[in-house]
Amino acid sequence: MDLMYQSTRGGEKNITASQAILKGLADDGGLFMPVEIPKLAVPVEKLADMSYQDTAYEVMKLFFTDFTEEELRSCIERAYDSKFDTEEIAPLAKADGMYFLELYHGSTIAFKDMALSILPHLMTVSAKKNHADKKIVILTATSGDTGKAAMAGFADVEGTEIIVFYPKGGVSPMQERQMRTQTGKNTHVVAIHGNFDDAQTGVKKIFGDKEFEKKLAERGYQLSSANSINIGRLVPQVVYYVYAYAKLLKNEEIVPGEKINVTVPTGNFGNILAGYFAKQMGLPIDKLICASNENKVLYDFFTTGTYDKNREFILTNSPSMDILVSSNLERLIYLSAGCDAEKTRALMEELSADGKYTVTDEMRAKMADFRGGYATQEEDGAMIRKLFEDTGYVIDTHTGVAAAVYQKYVQESKDQTKTVIVSTASPYKFSRSVMEALGYEDTAGSRTLDDLSEFEIVDELSAKTGLPIPKAVEDIRFAVYLHDDECDVDKMEETVSGLLK
Ligand SMILES: *Cc1c(COP(=O)(O)O)cnc(C)c1O
Repeated sequence: MDLMYQSTRGGEKNITASQAILKGLADDGGLFMPVEIPKLAVPVEKLADMSYQDTAYEVMKLFFTDFTEEELRSCIERAYDSKFDTEEIAPLAKADGMYFLELYHGSTIAFKDMALSILPHLMTVSAKKNHADKKIVILTATSGDTGKAAMAGFADVEGTEIIVFYPKGGVSPMQERQMRTQTGKNTHVVAIHGNFDDAQTGVKKIFGDKEFEKKLAERGYQLSSANSINIGRLVPQVVYYVYAYAKLLKNEEIVPGEKINVTVPTGNFGNILAGYFAKQMGLPIDKLICASNENKVLYDFFTTGTYDKNREFILTNSPSMDILVSSNLERLIYLSAGCDAEKTRALMEELSADGKYTVTDEMRAKMADFRGGYATQEEDGAMIRKLFEDTGYVIDTHTGVAAAVYQKYVQESKDQTKTVIVSTASPYKFSRSVMEALGYEDTAGSRTLDDLSEFEIVDELSAKTGLPIPKAVEDIRFAVYLHDDECDVDKMEETVSGLLK
């Protein structure tokens, strides 16, 4: 019996995994959820000796039941290969009593690679399975990392086009450079005159436009999403929580069954939700600490029960977390409402009409595993600096938010449970901000950080920390810009239409 999927808003039921992956978003605007979260079939003790790829298979086969073993293993092999600069794929580093799960060893040096290296393969297999005859057009809004990772994953993949929208001025210079130098004749990048939420709202609007869908279909195109709302992204992210736990066991940092906490630097709520799925599968996780930057909508939500996006949008130096509408939270809302699609839809309608909603106490009780926390840019920077000075270990600004939030949590709660900090980007992806935190001193004494180019900072960071410069950074050092499209927020649909020729 296949595990079936349904929309969080009740419109669609009895959807197979491959159909859900292909569609991305449900027709009613909801997100696909499995009718139940399967239990891990292998005891974690056994997982301790398994490779990342084998762990991936054990987790994904439970969710993607309409894939054959051969199909799934081939997707996994093509995704988690030498694109990653370490055989471990997701190494676990220990520093100052914290365990950092490094998810940035893929081709774009951020954690989105974990899911986006496999999604194109899951999607092309899904298309074949469902005899889809149209070209798949991946539409994606990005706050910086998704865009590049999605393009890297889909570049020149047969039968696909990919269009990425990012907020002009709202991503790091390195992120922008990574995207605008992307090769592949099926890749398109557009800077919009607005922020990330505008980009995301615009993309959602396009997905919801039935007229447009029909027009595209006539031209032989079918839209799909590589955003973290796609179940084909969420499930691969469950894998590394299981892998991290297995690694802790193997390294004898914990005993079998011992509960751990995880702290996750959060934006769209996909990563931490995958951790929650892992817990539901039976992995011994106690608390899921949701770390936000100054855009602390989620912190407020977990502390008050009210989600309210009506506030100032703050640009921070952890831009991938600068988000006011965390799309994947809808899945937690749905689970906490006892899989009540009506209730979920009503709350999401409130969100879209008033920009806010409040959950019931009963629902809040079901979310008790989550703790919200936030860190200011100052706390983030101080954390990065202190960790480096004490241990020589360097983290990026997103991971810094998580570590700072974790430290505050321990101070307040005295909770001594061993904790995995999910490390979402290489320090080199945010070199300037990391260097600022570490304190830049020109040995000649005349230049400040503002005088340095991105790559000069990369070299300074390498000299200061001894951390090798990733190949992904070297690769774009001399690359030329291939993309320069821009558009207004209300012109996104036209832009898509124009790019598909
Ligand atoms: C995307 C991203 C996040 C946020 O992850 P979500 O799954 O959207 O919560 C955090 N850090 C980095 C570096 C990211 O790229």
